[in-house]
Amino acid sequence: MNVDQIIIIGAGPAGLMAAQQLALKGFEVHVYEQNKAAARKFLVAGNGGFNLTHSEELESFVQKYEAEEIQDIVRSFDNKKVIQWLEDLGITTYVGSSGKIFPTKNFKPIQVLKAWLDRLEQLGVTIHYDHTFLNFDDSAVYLKNNDEDISVKYSKLILAMGGGSWRKTGSDAKWVETFNNKNIEITPLQAANSGYNTEVKFHQLQGQYLKNIKVSFQENHKIGEIVFTKYGIEGSPIYYMNRFTRKHNFPVIINIDLKPNVTESEILAELKGSDKISPVLKRNLKLSTAAINLLKTLDKESYLNIENLAKTIKKFPIEVLSFRPIDEVISTAGGVAFSELNSNLELKKFPNVYCAGEMIDWEAPTGGYLLQACFSTGFWVGNSISKS
Ligand SMILES: Cc1cc2nc3c(=O)[nH]c(=O)nc-3n(C[C@H](O)[C@H](O)[C@H](O)COP(=O)(O)OP(=O)(O)OC[C@H]3O[C@@H](n4cnc5c(N)ncnc54)[C@H](O)[C@@H]3O)c2cc1C
Repeated sequence: MNVDQIIIIGAGPAGLMAAQQLALKGFEVHVYEQNKAAARKFLVAGNGGFNLTHSEELESFVQKYEAEEIQDIVRSFDNKKVIQWLEDLGITTYVGSSGKIFPTKNFKPIQVLKAWLDRLEQLGVTIHYDHTFLNFDDSAVYLKNNDEDISVKYSKLILAMGGGSWRKTGSDAKWVETFNNKNIEITPLQAANSGYNTEVKFHQLQGQYLKNIKVSFQENHKIGEIVFTKYGIEGSPIYYMNRFTRKHNFPVIINIDLKPNVTESEILAELKGSDKISPVLKRNLKLSTAAINLLKTLDKESYLNIENLAKTIKKFPIEVLSFRPIDEVISTAGGVAFSELNSNLELKKFPNVYCAGEMIDWEAPTGGYLLQACFSTGFWVGNSISKS
């Protein structure tokens, strides 16, 4: 193999986007992937509604990323460019619920991936499956292929091995140990876009949904839908709160406003107008059965005190005990610290070695923001290399 070739480890969205960008600029690109197929997590993301980016206006879009470095990178290859890129692959999109961007219904996730892989093949990108990254040094990357250890020389090496959730998709985060051994700082991987384990008293509500409610934690608020589970709560407003609650020691209290469009005094006025509480909750305030069941987890005295009840409808406290186990959550926060990377996402300790995608220390809520940052960082690295 020629030493001038670009080597990419990981055939996920970030690695494949870097491959495409470099192949378009005429580079010879080889991608090494430990699975027998590409982008398994990308396909898993497709199972629950394949939202590839979000239609939000760019300046509020980038606020979804706390890491400023990612904000600039997303600006450079933004949601409009993702839609354009998909169109170039022949994949049409539409804006779905809450502004999320999906492929039109005639495209299954596997078809989106196939269109992308076909394009990469046309551009001359080679993907070597069944190759597991083990290590790298200044000039070569070390891999295992069918029990055989091999080394491959690189001119530029891009590491795009993903975060640490859903290990069965291939993102097993074993690279963390390799990086630790090289004294490259890694912010510990933590559950992100995770449900919460809550106090046991809420477990009886398993399977019940609260719709159009507002979840709050300190000054952060998010309207949406949540579901009670056998261990606690899940849902996009919950995932949104992850990054804020992570900064505190558990347990923490999050609050739920069951009637975001009605004031506490309006609720109280309705409750004062009747001797019986339940009919008012149901008929006058139009609370759902799930919301009423939640209120019934209060002790009797608190439930029957209408001043207290009105307050609690606006601010129902839920004690959160912990995140869910890392392997079952949608993504991980943490990863390669930005202090280890220059503005090209190149490792300062290893010039010519770049990182892209979820393995870098940023996080974002679901809604297309995760894939967007993976596409954008892949593009950014590819572009940086092609200009160097
Ligand atoms: C259930 C679920 C639903 C999701 N839904 C959405 C959504 O709707 N919208 C959204 O934006 N995001 C969603 N995501 C998140 C999104 O899929 C990920 O953020 C994204 O796939 C990360 O891309 P990546 O390229 O950084 O890493 P990955 O997609 O994880 O790809 C990394 C690749 O590297 C390979 N690899 C790892 N280690 C090695 C090694 N040692 N040697 C060789 N190869 C290796 C892996 O096998 C894998 O193929 C979802 C994720 C999950 C799990």
